[in-house]
Amino acid sequence: MQNFYTADDFDIDAHVSADEALVQLRTGNRIYVEALDHKRDLSPERIRELFERGQKPFATVITCSDSRVVPEHIFMAGLGELFVIRVAGNVIGDLEAASAVYACKHLHTRLLLVLGHTHCGAIRAALDGEGGSVASLTERIRDAIGAVTDPYEASVLNTRTAMRELSEQPDLATLSAKGALTIAGAIYHTHCGVVDFLER
Ligand SMILES: [Zn+2]
Repeated sequence: MQNFYTADDFDIDAHVSADEALVQLRTGNRIYVEALDHKRDLSPERIRELFERGQKPFATVITCSDSRVVPEHIFMAGLGELFVIRVAGNVIGDLEAASAVYACKHLHTRLLLVLGHTHCGAIRAALDGEGGSVASLTERIRDAIGAVTDPYEASVLNTRTAMRELSEQPDLATLSAKGALTIAGAIYHTHCGVVDFLER
């Protein structure tokens, strides 16, 4: 498996590459969908171990706050495995970008996944022209999707916009240029649980 970084780039323990992280996410989602195994280690021992040794998540995931779109479940990840940023419509504002920088720069996750989803209420609201108290979200989504009216296409465009905005963030761009970060996108299908990874 290809490594995206050299040992000289960082003085941390060997970490999970973006490709390995993607394999782990794909495998986790397959297990989730097939319901082969829903057991994860949430034991007091694991809590204690993570407290004592610190977190080393293998990927960062930015997704919607929708209660059906829970990355730790969708990817069958345990405590300490995913750094998750959630905001309605998975729009990227200053706080989300800063959280992503923290995860990628300081926790050294090599994969940053933007996970959009179908039947997203925030995208629906944007398509329906809602404003008022939710305008800070819907206006961002409308900017992202332009004249598109198909909700699925809108989800994909909104996800790709978030990916682009993250890639333009200077710290993340620097990491990407070093080969230390891959920004990927995917869509979660709310009706069946399958995650489709977008072509890069
Ligand atoms: Zn949503």
